Amino acid sequence: MKASVHRSFWLGQVLDGEDSLSLAGSIHADIAIVGGGYTGLWTALRIKKAEPAADVVVLEADVCGAGASGRNGGLAHGWWEKLAQLIAICGVAEAKRLCETSEAAVDELERLDRDGTLPSDFIRGGKLSVATTPAQVGAWDALLALCERNGVDPFEPVSAAAARGRVDSPTFLGGVFESSAATVHPGKLVRGLRKLALRHGVKVYEHTPMRALERATPPRVHTPGGSVTADHVVVALGAWAAGLPEFHRRLYVVSSEVVVTPPIPEELRRIGWIDGESINDGQARVLYGRTTSDGRIALGRGGGRLAFGGRLDRGFDRNRRSSEDVAAALRRLYPSLAGLKVEHDWSGPIDRTLTGLPVFGRLGGHPKISYGIGWSGTGVAPTLIGGRILASIALDLDDGWQRCGLVEQRSLGKLPPEPIRYAGGAVVRRAVVRKAAREDASRKVDRLTHSIAGLVPRLPEA
Ligand SMILES: Cc1cc2nc3c(=O)[nH]c(=O)nc-3n(C[C@H](O)[C@H](O)[C@H](O)COP(=O)(O)OP(=O)(O)OC[C@H]3O[C@@H](n4cnc5c(N)ncnc54)[C@H](O)[C@@H]3O)c2cc1C
Repeated sequence: MKASVHRSFWLGQVLDGEDSLSLAGSIHADIAIVGGGYTGLWTALRIKKAEPAADVVVLEADVCGAGASGRNGGLAHGWWEKLAQLIAICGVAEAKRLCETSEAAVDELERLDRDGTLPSDFIRGGKLSVATTPAQVGAWDALLALCERNGVDPFEPVSAAAARGRVDSPTFLGGVFESSAATVHPGKLVRGLRKLALRHGVKVYEHTPMRALERATPPRVHTPGGSVTADHVVVALGAWAAGLPEFHRRLYVVSSEVVVTPPIPEELRRIGWIDGESINDGQARVLYGRTTSDGRIALGRGGGRLAFGGRLDRGFDRNRRSSEDVAAALRRLYPSLAGLKVEHDWSGPIDRTLTGLPVFGRLGGHPKISYGIGWSGTGVAPTLIGGRILASIALDLDDGWQRCGLVEQRSLGKLPPEPIRYAGGAVVRRAVVRKAAREDASRKVDRLTHSIAGLVPRLPEA
């Protein structure tokens, strides 16, 4: 991977030329973690907590947070919206436990922010999932019914008026509110994790890309300046894992774009967007947004460009055309902001699985190489659980996590091989874009567009 040159708004605020070490020479470690995002860093910290004497090394191609962890929307919430998919994978009891633990991960972020261990501008504002076109109305009904059947109530149904009472957009038509959700500053979170890991004795090597992974015993990671031979290697590469042959049929990568406005505190007060709520809509290319501590709106949209064969080019750092599409969505949500120019825009890669949930296991069955990938756009809070699972596998802990329902999942299907996947994906994506554009304009969607758009890899429905 080449170093990203275009940084997110968040990283731009926190990268301050701290000392950074690159690997030179060949070393041994108890555990080598490849990838310095939330997954890799939480794993390092969990390992150090369980075994303070363990020699843990993190290898990061660029700087920690250069990937999705420093570029995301910062919406911190649990897996409740994926309850149906979790039940399909691991049954009701384990699904509920994982959802509860993911909600507790938001609490942990709050505690770490409040006690100064990991400051992240944490705000518990809740998340408003809201229909913005008539076609999206009722998008959460099946989920609400599933929650009710299973005796849980993480979501409060909200009418159009109630939604607009929280954050006023003329497009809001009602949906659900998840009060446990929060927002964080993604850059502060990931760079804070790096600092914490260093403080706990983890060796963090930045600008140190893995060039090859020797699947030997013991495994060895080769880098431009040397190598690390480790008792155990953890692959925490996020979207970049799509380049490994083991994941070609399990992982696909799509871009997501984010735009940030200048500070508009007066306008936010007028809209009523002042309590730190985050929002998302109900379309396939989901729109998500939040405010920042200095009174800006950050709005993003998923389901952007597909990566051919998992290759991530510079278009996954920035794509002005897609960003303009997000800026247009912002103007549709808030016509009063029509004259406003966005100040920042960037792209990031989303590592998607067919189920929309991450997968954990041993790479190609190798007992000493594990992986945790496929966050599918929901990783800010759930990667805390990822760290627990990967630490448990790496240290062979008897804490239940290495046998949790997301480890060595039964296969719910495979992605088609390239180039069929890319070509087919492009056709489906065009239909999804066309369908959303017509729905936004209150126009009828033809049957063919509807059917093709329906082929988007779907999670099991509630
Ligand atoms: C634009 C965008 C918006 C998002 N919004 C949200 C949100 O609001 N809420 C939410 O919950 N989730 C969101 N996500 C998802 C969330 O950011 C991810 O799930 C999470 O950051 C995954 O962390 P990770 O450590 O697994 O991956 P990453 O943070 O991508 O870390 C992988 C690291 O591996 C490094 N790397 C790559 N190749 C190599 C190599 N060869 N050798 C060594 N290192 C390498 C990369 O530089 C990168 O730092 C969003 C993602 C994006 C892209």
